[in-house]
Amino acid sequence: MFIRKIGIDLGTCNSLVFIPGQGVVLQEPSVVAVSVDENKILAVGNEAKEMVGKTPETIRVYRPLKDGVIADYRVTQAMIKHFINKATSRFNFFKPELIISVPAGITSTERRAVVQASEAAGAKSTFIAKEPILAAIGAGIPINSSSGHLIVDIGGGTAEVAVISLGGIVTAESLRAAGDKMDQAIADFVKEEHNLAIGNQTAEEIKMKIGAAITQEEDEELEVRGRDLVSGLPRNVKVSSNQVSEAVSDVLEEIVQLIKDILRETPPELAADIMDKGMILSGGGSQLKDLDELIAQSTGVPCFIAEEPLLCVAKGTGTVLENLKSYKKSVMSKK
Ligand code: ADP
Ligand code: MG
Repeated sequence: MFIRKIGIDLGTCNSLVFIPGQGVVLQEPSVVAVSVDENKILAVGNEAKEMVGKTPETIRVYRPLKDGVIADYRVTQAMIKHFINKATSRFNFFKPELIISVPAGITSTERRAVVQASEAAGAKSTFIAKEPILAAIGAGIPINSSSGHLIVDIGGGTAEVAVISLGGIVTAESLRAAGDKMDQAIADFVKEEHNLAIGNQTAEEIKMKIGAAITQEEDEELEVRGRDLVSGLPRNVKVSSNQVSEAVSDVLEEIVQLIKDILRETPPELAADIMDKGMILSGGGSQLKDLDELIAQSTGVPCFIAEEPLLCVAKGTGTVLENLKSYKKSVMSKK
């Protein structure tokens, strides 16, 4: 069957593709490998991610959407093209209609860059939808209702907080501090505490395996390998959950502060709805152990993690594509 509609969650860390009737068909890191001298794109997605930290000087591996915006148009276009081709078939006869998620705070220039990249990548037409709206839809929130909803999406590069009502964003703020910054904080901690350099991937592994947002009664440990900063040789050290929660506390404080700021700006009627129903967390970063508890404690608002938080935005694109009529007005703009 030919595919006519495709939803793409172009995340700073992971990109997902949703096809109506099929669901999430692709989930790959938003990573590219480029040759330094010819500026040629050598690999995209999984293949590029495997090269991280292992490339010779002639190859640069990086994330083109680091802070949630398109820093490199050409590379982003290649990435979109790669995901479309891989998710459909190269012989797809129809040019598909695309819906792509963008951060709520994106400028019109950045938005145009996404549309151009998408069209150059072979889309017939492109709709752009704001990430928090899609995340909310994907989390099953009835966004078209007149009730207020608070959604917090914690990704790799950015955390986005938005109050949604009647299908639109009432207030939204975005912070360039999320999963990546937690990894960096863990790497910095290991460096200071143990004089050991670890890579970002190791820091991320520590965070996912034993990391927590609040102090744990049962402090878990993980042994990791790094490079001794004095001798330059490999060495192992143990890192514990509570050390991780200490290390990431500043980043988490920034996120909590952002949520508090939004709550203060929210009109009282909507704030009352949010108090009643609680806020919803989405994005990979929301899976940090006990982060929901930390946020609930610090804001006084109940906090729930969406089902399959990593898939929320992609599922949201799917719901919109499948129900274009009910969502078209409130979530999309073509330019
Ligand atoms: P983006 O939308 O920016 O691409 P994602 O929603 O895909 O981001 O989330 C990626 C982030 O989620 C990464 O920083 C990753 O380390 C983090 N993450 C994924 N799983 C977990 C977990 N179990 N615990 C803590 N962080 C996690
Ligand atoms: Mg995301």
